[in-house]
Order: sequence, then structure tokens, then C-alpha cells
Amino acid sequence: DVNYPCGSLFTDQVCLILFQIDKYLYSMRLSDETLLDITQRFRIELAQGLGQDTNPTASLKMLPTFVRSIPDGSEKGDFIALDLGGSNFRILHVRVSHEKKQTVQMESQIYDTPEDIIHGTGARLFDHVAECLGDFMEKHNIKDKKLPVGFTFSFPCQQNKLDEGYLLTWTKHFRASGVEGMDVVQLLNKAIKKRGDYNADIMAVVNDTVGTMMTCGFDDQRCEVGIIIGTGTNACYMEELRHIDLVEGDEGRMCVNTEWGAFGDDGRLEDIRTEFDREIDRGSLNPGKQLFEKMVSGMYMGELVRLILVKMAREGLLFEGRITPELLTWGKVETKHVSAIEKSKEGLSKAKEVLTKLGVEPSHDDCIAVQHVCAIVSFRSANLIAATLSAILLRLKENKGVSRLRTTVGIDGSLYKMHPQYARRLHKTVRRLVPDSDVRFLLSESGSGKGAAMVTAVASRLADQSRQ
Ligand code: BGC
Ligand code: MG
Repeated sequence: DVNYPCGSLFTDQVCLILFQIDKYLYSMRLSDETLLDITQRFRIELAQGLGQDTNPTASLKMLPTFVRSIPDGSEKGDFIALDLGGSNFRILHVRVSHEKKQTVQMESQIYDTPEDIIHGTGARLFDHVAECLGDFMEKHNIKDKKLPVGFTFSFPCQQNKLDEGYLLTWTKHFRASGVEGMDVVQLLNKAIKKRGDYNADIMAVVNDTVGTMMTCGFDDQRCEVGIIIGTGTNACYMEELRHIDLVEGDEGRMCVNTEWGAFGDDGRLEDIRTEFDREIDRGSLNPGKQLFEKMVSGMYMGELVRLILVKMAREGLLFEGRITPELLTWGKVETKHVSAIEKSKEGLSKAKEVLTKLGVEPSHDDCIAVQHVCAIVSFRSANLIAATLSAILLRLKENKGVSRLRTTVGIDGSLYKMHPQYARRLHKTVRRLVPDSDVRFLLSESGSGKGAAMVTAVASRLADQSRQ
């Protein structure tokens, strides 16, 4: 497993630095053997989350989504999609039409979600969402229309039908009070009614992974997995209904939201978690929860790098031992910095820029060293995602009973999109871990909003049919 070959490009001095860091961060460099072992563990967890008796105590919630198929091309109409919980709060107006072929037009706007609102009361949060929706409808001249709304809500929700979602727990940086255990559709409806200046019919709540799978499914009918690698991380996939104990019926398939960010919350990843992972967890909003997410996702990656740099500086391995208040400040190294530092051409000068801002007066060797630390942390993330995704692929393969799996994975998320090496590394590792497969990775160009509109389109068509 030589991820970082020391080729003829490097001087002996540089090779020595890289070698030392490899040794120092040994526990973050996961061999294929370890990754395959993690794949096996994750497969067991998947099955436990699906089983009636094992679900209550399983770390993977495996939430039924009531989405039974990807778009079939017959959807049409005018919809609104709300997208809350990713790196942006976005509202979209989506028009799906059928001239000769199905086409989608979208207009969207990003709204602020200030810290005091996502950390305030739930009532205020939903008032804010309702206010932004009102503003959006006004600006797009659709306030009198009562359009069907699809709500992409990027948190774990318990659903018994498409248009309800009981928030199980906040994740990432959200923690508005009084929302956990509540149905977010009811909360939003209440906030809209209270205003009284427009009507909205919320037809579906979908996780962002589901929105991503549906968006990609629109372009590729083979798409049956959706992944987010952004602020948080998660995956959904199409599971056989006969394997989903929590939902009645044996025919066909249903999309299951794995909530894989919680992998390891039962202690199953303790052997690979490092002191840095533990420190991140201790300082987080939700200690002991979302342990896998904290090892891989964008909200924590910069911070992981910072903690490593602090320790190395303390031991005199970096910056001639210089430690500054900035270097010691939470959040001063961001994931977007990690992405910049790993760019192949400007990476080293970016490293210099970022480290200079931290006041540590980096030498050229320091910059090389820090770049290597970033590579190890982001490589570990891509490797871990490859391991869990491989488990889902193996499950699909088994479900279909084929000797070679051909499938498409829809992906979105800021880390996957912005990091210069991430996607390539992830794809490569997956192909190594599941050799008997042809996996197409499809980037969701238009986010999860289009997918939420697709789910809404199907739901409103079914509702119309039952009204007639
Ligand atoms: C949430 C998931 C979400 C993921 C990506 C996680 O923290 O629990 O529901 O899909 O972030 O946004
Ligand atoms: Mg998103």
C-alpha cells in the first residue's frame, strides 16, 4: 500500500520528511486488508439495521424512505424544492416538461442560515425557513400558486410515509431546540400557516442522499445508490423490500437511508480510531455520535489536520517547535484549505499561505510536510468511504444474484466536488476492493433539489390519481 511513492522527483531530504510522516501517522494509513475488514464489518451492520429485532440497538438506522423507484421519465409539472442541512440552504423552482423529451428547468436561490438560528429554538428556525420560502415565491411570482413542495432535509428522519419525517437527532452543526422527535413537515406547515400570506403543500421529505440518487437517476436509470461526502456523510441505496423488516410487503424495492455517519457508534471502529479522532469527538456538539462521519467528512477534516499539526509542532517536528494562538484555535484550518494545499501545482504555495496566516513562519520543508499530512488525512477519508460503499455494492450484487455487478452511484457533496484528488482516489480504491464490478460514478451536477422535485412529482401524480 504505497500511496505516496517517493520517486526520483524528490530529493533525499524530502523523502526523509515524507517517510517520517508516514511513520508518524502510521495508524491513519489503512491497508487494503484493513479496508476489506471494515467492509465486512459494515456489511454485518447493514444487515443488523435491516432486521426487526436487531434494528433498535443497531448503529446503522437503515431508515425506510418510501421512495420505491427512480424517475421513470413520465414525471411533469411545476414544483418547489427546499434544501436544508447541507453547506447551503437553497430554494428551487423546478419545472419538468414533456415536449419531445423530458426536460427540467430550474431557478434557485441560496439563503443564509445564521448560527443563532440553527442554534436557537426550532420555532425560529422554521419561521426562518417559511420566511425565505415566502420571499422566494414572491420574487418568482408564484405566491398565489400553491405548488407542491419537496423538502430535502439532510438529517436522520423516521418516516412512515413520504410526507412525514420525525427528526431522530441533529447532526453536523445544527442543534435547534425542540425539533428532535418532532415531524418536520408539521413544524414547517405550522410556520407557514402562522404567516398566512401563502399556501404550500409539502408532499415529500427526502434525505439529501435520496435527492442525489433521484437527480442522478434522472440521467442514468441504473443509478441505485446515492452518496454525500460534504459537511456530513451518508449513503442510501435500493434494497429489496423483502429484506426490510420494518416495512410490510415483499415485492419490489425501496430506497433505504443507511445513515452511515453513525457507523462505529457501537464501538466497532475503536481499533482504527486515533487519538485525533477522539479529540475531535470530545470537542464536538454530539460526543459519542457520528463517529464515522467525524473521521471522514468535510466538517471535521480541517480540524483533524490542525490537531495533527499542533502535536507535531509540540514535539518539534514542525515549524521549529513554534506554536501560535492561531494554530491552537479551533476551526483555523478548514477543509477548503486542505483541498487547496493538495492541489498539484499551487499546493505548496497554498500551504505556505495557510501556514503563514497561522503565524508559524513555515520553512519549505514544513510546507512539504504539511501537504503530506493533508494527503494522509484526506486519503484515509476516501479509503474509508470506499470500504463502506463496497459493502453496499456487495449487498446489491448479492441481492441481484449476479456474478458481475453493473451499477451507477450518484454522488454529491462539497468535499467530493472541491478536493482535487478525492474523487479519483475513491473510485480507484472501490475498483480494487470490488474487482468484479463495473461502477459508474455520477456527479450530481444540480444537487439534490432536482431529485426532491422528482420524488414530489411522483407523489403528486399518485395523489391526483387517488383523488379522481
Ligand atoms: C446526516 C445525514 C445526511 C448527511 C449528509 C449527516 O450528518 O445525518 O442525514 O445525509 O449528513 O448531509
Ligand atoms: Mg446538500
